[in-house]
Amino acid sequence: MMPVLHAVIVSCPGQGHVNPLMNFAELLAMRGFFITFVTTEWTDQRLLEAASKDAAARDREFQERGFKFRFLTIPDGFKPEKGRTSDIGEVFLALQSLGPTLETVLMAADKSVPPVTCIISDSFLSCTAEVAKNIGVPRVLFWTTCTAYAIIQTNANFLLSQGYIPVKEEDLKSKEKLITCLPGKLPPIRPTDLPSFYREQHISELIYGAFLHESRIQKIADYILVNTFDELEGGKEAQMGLSINGCPALAIGPVYLPNFLQGRNSMYSMWEEDKTCLQWLDAQAQGSVLYVSFDSIAVKSEKQLHELALGLEACGYPFLWVLRSDMAQGKSVVLPEGFIDRTKDRALIVNWTKQLEVLSHPSVGGFFTHNGWNSTMEAINMGVPMIGWPYFSDQFVNCRFSKDVWKVGLDLEGVDSDEYKMVTKEIVESTIKSLMKGCVGRKLRENILKLKEAATNAVMEGGTSHANLNTFVEDMIKLAKSKV
Ligand code: UDP
Repeated sequence: MMPVLHAVIVSCPGQGHVNPLMNFAELLAMRGFFITFVTTEWTDQRLLEAASKDAAARDREFQERGFKFRFLTIPDGFKPEKGRTSDIGEVFLALQSLGPTLETVLMAADKSVPPVTCIISDSFLSCTAEVAKNIGVPRVLFWTTCTAYAIIQTNANFLLSQGYIPVKEEDLKSKEKLITCLPGKLPPIRPTDLPSFYREQHISELIYGAFLHESRIQKIADYILVNTFDELEGGKEAQMGLSINGCPALAIGPVYLPNFLQGRNSMYSMWEEDKTCLQWLDAQAQGSVLYVSFDSIAVKSEKQLHELALGLEACGYPFLWVLRSDMAQGKSVVLPEGFIDRTKDRALIVNWTKQLEVLSHPSVGGFFTHNGWNSTMEAINMGVPMIGWPYFSDQFVNCRFSKDVWKVGLDLEGVDSDEYKMVTKEIVESTIKSLMKGCVGRKLRENILKLKEAATNAVMEGGTSHANLNTFVEDMIKLAKSKV
């Protein structure tokens, strides 16, 4: 008899982690897996509040969809009112000690469920390594980032031993210095592509040590999955650059895309979504709107937000701007005097959107983004070229590859080597104009439409990501059968 597979999926607290892991959970649930989805209490509360539902209503919804699914939560040790995105190092240090709590929660949960087949761990949750070992199941590492970043981060301690980390000020400025010692046949990596928290100026911050620790534990894996697709990132050879002791390493993304293409809304927002965006977009001309969003973590100084606002005003295009209320470095956002009034006929400013619906709307012609990996892939899959303004971590390599490797985006001069560089309103205006009209924008659009097609093919029956997901499921079936 075929055993029922049970995947315990554990997600980091963060929008860019919960979305792909929930989508992946749904793909497995559709293939008959029993899913235990674990995240922190704080994250779960945010998800429920944003969706205006309680846990029982959510459970019912999943049941009605025919899924065998349960949600478990673990406390992260912080007070509920504490912001979880302002000091990421502190949050990761807390997460690193949650192994015993996670194990207790799993052990105490309802026992009338199939035995656990594997723990699918967000790659940034080192605490799951001990738990998988203790309960005797494989640890499947799930990267919510691109492969290039995953290879860099897995090898951070090697890069430290080679003197590339901490990244020195002079190396950031040098265009000649290339890092070619990493596996996976990556395109040459520049010092500016390395995770920003490994720069010399961040050595004393908690995040520097916390992520070097994660890197050590990222070497403990029995199976590796990456939310990308082979055609984008150098094929199987690139993914194998991630393999630990020969374990499988497969690209199975973009995991949300099969759900999206089949009309299932599987995005899970931690902020309440604005309901007026689509109506507003309906009233705009095709391809005319610039969508501006730096997502859930990025913050900017008040002066920088002013330059951005004035650049948006000067460019002359309609724009939809996701401006989180906590985006102005802890202060409430104050826009330039008269800005709202002057732009009211062609601007909509909201707190949070249904991003996929926005990016897939025919009125949207460009995306001004922080290049988070989910946003970057969503732009590629919807065929919307980008301007990248990275803020943190993997966003730098995503921006650089979007511009130089995939040729689907532009960047802002100097932002890669100086995280605090003031981008003037003139630069904002001229870069938007290059993106939205003329031959530069046209070429980017042509390139991104080819990648859009490649991504769609990858997740359809017979495509690379679809086949890789089948391989993973078959491997888990073999494993479960061997234990019966
Ligand atoms: N997102 C959204 N509405 C918004 C802004 C973002 O639904 O107004 C979603 C977006 O579609 C993506 C996720 O939030 O799936 C953000 O992930 P990403 O990796 O791009 O950035 P992060 O928030 O992790 O920095």
